[in-house]
Order: sequence, then C-alpha cells, then structure tokens
Amino acid sequence: MSEKLQAIRGMRDILPEESVRWQCVERKIIQVLDRYGYQEIRLPILEKTELFARSIGEQTDIVAKEMYSFEDRNGDSLTLRPEGTAGCVRAGLEHGLFYNQTQRLWYMGPMFRHERPQKGRQRQFHQIGVEAFGFDGPDIDAELIILSARLWRELGIKDITLQLNSLGTLQARSKYREILIDYFLKHEEQLDEDSRRRLQTNPLRILDSKNPELQGLINSAPAIKDHLDTESEEHFDQLLHMLNEAGIEYEINPRLVRGLDYYGQTVFEWVTDQLGAQGAICAGGRYNGLIEHFGGKSVPAFGFALGMERLMALIKTNGNDIERQPLHAYLILSAEEEVIAAGLKLAELLRDQLPHLRLTTHCGGGSFKSQFKRADKSGALFGLILGSEEVENQTVGLKSLRDKSEQETIPWGNIGKILAKNIQ
Ligand code: ATP
Ligand code: MG
Repeated sequence: MSEKLQAIRGMRDILPEESVRWQCVERKIIQVLDRYGYQEIRLPILEKTELFARSIGEQTDIVAKEMYSFEDRNGDSLTLRPEGTAGCVRAGLEHGLFYNQTQRLWYMGPMFRHERPQKGRQRQFHQIGVEAFGFDGPDIDAELIILSARLWRELGIKDITLQLNSLGTLQARSKYREILIDYFLKHEEQLDEDSRRRLQTNPLRILDSKNPELQGLINSAPAIKDHLDTESEEHFDQLLHMLNEAGIEYEINPRLVRGLDYYGQTVFEWVTDQLGAQGAICAGGRYNGLIEHFGGKSVPAFGFALGMERLMALIKTNGNDIERQPLHAYLILSAEEEVIAAGLKLAELLRDQLPHLRLTTHCGGGSFKSQFKRADKSGALFGLILGSEEVENQTVGLKSLRDKSEQETIPWGNIGKILAKNIQ
C-alpha cells in the first residue's frame, strides 16, 4: 500500500480562503513601503551555506541547528534561506548597489528553519523584510520604526508593543560580553544546560532565555546600557527623541539582544501578548558590521523582518479579518457549442469594458439548474444567462442571485453599463 502523500512537518499550505486574506495584507504593506520610497528586491531562495554561516554567525541557533542544508549535484553545500538579510547584502555587493549610493529595499517570501513546529512557529514561514543601506544616523532607525508603526495602524492592529534596546558598537559589545561571562561564571551552578553552552559561544543570548528559573539571575545581570560607548549612547538618545516627537510609544527592554550575531547599536522588536509564547511579530535593528565583514567597504545598515503567519494570526485576534471579495457575476450557458463560444466572447467584451469586474464563466456543461446552484454557491451577485435564443438576439438574461427580483432580458450593448452601476 502506498503511503498517503502529505506536506512536510512544519510546512503549511495556504488555501484559497486564506490566501485572499494574505494578498490583501501584503498589498497594504507593499503600498506603505512604496509610499516611503522603498523598492522591491527579489532574491533566490537558495544560497551557498557559507553565506549564512559567515553572516548570521556560526554560534547562533539558526546556523548551529536550524538550517536546511544539502549538497547539490556538484557537491556544493547549499542552504534554503533561513532569513533574508544575508542574501540581500550578498546581492547588493554583487551588483554594486552600495557603491556611493544609499538603498531602501524590501523583499518578501518563504524562509526555512528546522525548529520544533508549534503554534506560530513553522519550518517554512514567510517574512517581509525591509533594509536601508548607507545611512548611519539614528534618523533611518526612526524612519523604519515609524514605518512599521504605520503598518500596524493601517492594518487595524492595536495589541502590539515596541521594545527597544541598544547593544552598543561591536567593540563595546565585546567588552560587555566579557563582563557578562564573568558574572554568569560566578553563578554557573544556577545555569541550565542551554545557558552553559551559550556562556562559551553566545553569552548575550542567555539574557533572552525563556527559562523561568533563570529570570532572577538574568534580572540581576549587569545591564548593557551601563556599558555603552558614548557614540551609541548619543545615537540611542537621538532615536528616542525622534520617536517621542513622532508619538511612537516604546518600552526599553535591556534584555533584548536578538538572535543574529551581526546586530549592534539599535535593536527592536514588536511584540504582542495575544498569541501565546510566539509573541514576536517583527524584529530588527542596526547591523553596521556586516558588509565590511563580507569584504566590502564599511556600509551602515538597518533593517527589520516581520513574520507573516504571526501577523495574520494577530489581525484575526484584533477582529479585523478581511472579507473575501465576492464574484460580481457568474455566466450560465446552455450546452450548444455556439452558445459556449458566444458566452466566452461576451465575457471578454465585459472584461474589456469593466476592468474591475469579477466574472466567472461556467465551464463543463450541465443543466441550468445545476449551473444556478454553482452560481449561487460562488457568492456571485448576478447570474448572466445565455441560451441559443439570447445568442440569436444578442441579448443576455440578468438575474440577481441575492434577492427575488425577476430575470430581465438585456441587449449585449447595455449589460456592461448595468453591471457597472451595481459593482464597486
Ligand atoms: P523567535 O524569537 O520567535 O524565534 P527570531 O528572533 O528567531 O524569533 P527573526 O529571525 O528576527 O525571529 O525573524 C523575524 C520574525 O519572523 C519574527 O519576529 C517572527 O515573527 C518571524 N519568525 C521567525 N521564526 C519563525 C518561525 N519559525 N515561524 C514563524 N514565524 C517566524
Ligand atoms: Mg528563532
């Protein structure tokens, strides 16, 4: 017996009922990005494994245990992208996009991480990422945070909070790292296994631990804000001032560190308490060191990525669910070959006249009765009915499917005008 075919664990289909909601949200987001002057960059889903290892960091959870990597037929190690920034930077360097110019870019699409699937956490998920290159001042940090706040506003989302922190420059951060290691070493017996491992590899991530038994220890740990360099301190103060002026509320979270190695200075996350444990909707920050690290000249960079699955779930809990747009008309045809040909032609005439018309032509034959049932089920506002007599007279029957009014006979030349009056 053959095994039942199923999608891979942690990878979901998005069925039509849901995809219309996705399209609507994506359209709104793209519109906002366009209004701020951000342009789309389309990137491959596969990259060389080395790209992620070098940019995200060997010691991060993503690179150490979450990547989908494999050898292709040439023996090259490739990886399904776990995030978009690395590919975006690679493309920018490859095409000289950072040379003497600034860039405001966005991308969207699937990302892959081999994590434990649970509510709000999948192995294939979708992100919209936004990146700005070539700006080192806090103004671009503010612009992107203000832009993200507009997204939530325009999507009708309320239960979302902005958390902010500064990690300092890479130098300040590495000094702080030593201080933190010293502190946790003094209390090593209280650490769990995960944190013990991180102590050697990525001690800042201990601050991000979700283990309730560690919270006391973490709360008393030296805070990064007391070890910031002056440059980062000024940068952060200016950012806070700009956000205050723009009326953006925030919380400073001294334990916000982010999972990727290449962040420094500003980091931020938009979180909600509406979705259980997976509360981070959108996260990002400044990563000035990355491009230089790839062998380019130094180019400051700031960006964020939002998780589409969590965003869609939050929109639902906020009660702003998007209604499916119904069909305007369903064309019902009798079975003669000539009528079918005429029906397809009439449908094209109407689509030429009315670019916003949503019209489905019945295909596959069947009685008028069964076609009416389909038309009704489709949610269409009107049935258009075509038989051989109508074709001969160049008319079409028009029947509202949403009230009991009588069917009318309309000349082909008038049907477009009548439909136009009844659709938005
Ligand atoms: P988390 O702490 O929840 O694991 P992260 O810090 O790993 O998140 P980022 O790499 O910053 O996440 O990705 C940005 C956003 O992408 C997250 O805020 C989240 O909304 C979404 N995201 C990340 N991983 C997943 C996943 N496995 N499934 C669904 N969405 C995800
Ligand atoms: Mg993660």
